[in-house]
Amino acid sequence: MHLREEELKKIKDEVLNLTSSSLYAERVKNKYFPVIGEGNHEARIMFVGEAPGENEAKTGRPFCGRAGKVLENLLASVGIDRQDVYVTNILKDRPPGNRDPLPDEIAAYAPFLDRQIKIIQPKIVATLGRFSMTYIMTHYGLDFELDTISKIHGQVFEAEGFKFIPLYHPAAAIYNQQLMGTLKEDFKKLASL
Ligand code: URA
Repeated sequence: MHLREEELKKIKDEVLNLTSSSLYAERVKNKYFPVIGEGNHEARIMFVGEAPGENEAKTGRPFCGRAGKVLENLLASVGIDRQDVYVTNILKDRPPGNRDPLPDEIAAYAPFLDRQIKIIQPKIVATLGRFSMTYIMTHYGLDFELDTISKIHGQVFEAEGFKFIPLYHPAAAIYNQQLMGTLKEDFKKLASL
């Protein structure tokens, strides 16, 4: 097995046994799967969403529901194939009722995301939604650049050799055509990088 695959497999095994997480019991009770991430292990672009929804927890695949369809359409609109990118979330288990992630949940799962970024070494980390934007920018020392997502979406930041681009969450565009237009413009920017 290649080194990247081995290290990603280790993450999967650790998350599978993450009994210390309050979301572990929910996973077991509901017969859900943890959702680690999916895509090209040598991807140049990594997308980081918030947390698995119900479809994701039932299948173990990130962004496989309606938000995933929007993400795939946005990628296709700029000629990028989903198979060429890597898609993951901050939380690897579903918060009950799709509620917002709690700070201690982010603290429990974010180290796995940090490791995924180190293993895959993407050129660009595109955050989807405000939770992953806030976590990533703070973690990479860009907190002084943080603002509301409406102000900094589509801007490019750099730290530790990575480019970061905060994007709106695709789910937010399902019922909002204006946001969809904004996301399309931001995806053009992403593709141009
Ligand atoms: N929303 C997310 O943030 N992540 C998913 O995997 C699905 C929906």
